[in-house]
Amino acid sequence: MPVAQAASEFNYPRILDHPWDHSPITVYIDNKSVPPHYSPTYYTQVQKALNYWAEGGNGKLEYTPVFKIVDSEKADIRIRWVEDMQKEQGVPPRVAGNTIPYIVNGRFIRVDITLGVGFFQWGEWIPYSDTAMLAIAKHELGHALGLDHSNDKQDIMYPTNEQINNTNPILSKYGSLLLFAIYAILAIAVFLSVSYILGRVAK
Ligand SMILES: [Zn+2]
Repeated sequence: MPVAQAASEFNYPRILDHPWDHSPITVYIDNKSVPPHYSPTYYTQVQKALNYWAEGGNGKLEYTPVFKIVDSEKADIRIRWVEDMQKEQGVPPRVAGNTIPYIVNGRFIRVDITLGVGFFQWGEWIPYSDTAMLAIAKHELGHALGLDHSNDKQDIMYPTNEQINNTNPILSKYGSLLLFAIYAILAIAVFLSVSYILGRVAK
């Protein structure tokens, strides 16, 4: 098919092209009333995510945002953390963040971003790594800048929980151990049956 067709297979829709009618966009990051499993390193990840967008982000914005971190809840974008997104925000399992834009006359007047800090799996608390938090913060800030979800899996605006699943070093360690154990059992079983057959043949 023509090149134009291939180029259009991905789309990068926007909620609004120019959501903010002023600059800089003020950002309040609530690192005071934080949940028990909050890590102070998460704050840095949000700063990195802000820099990511200020430096062009995924290239899908029509403008270059300028941010100003302020110590007032009256900020344009308000970011806070909660312990359990499922319980406190009623979102589907494994959703790590939530962004609510308030739109008046075709502009954002305020955006509330809520970020989770981890989740329970088999009764065990799995915290988000800094890498995961950075990806989550970039994604949610993308919404706060007017971007909607993309169908491009390589794009930060793709709705995914991959970054969450990848965050789990403890689980993946157990995962590979389990795989190793299965291979070991298989190898022993093969060895035993081969010796059994060889033993019978010898007799
Ligand atoms: Zn999203």
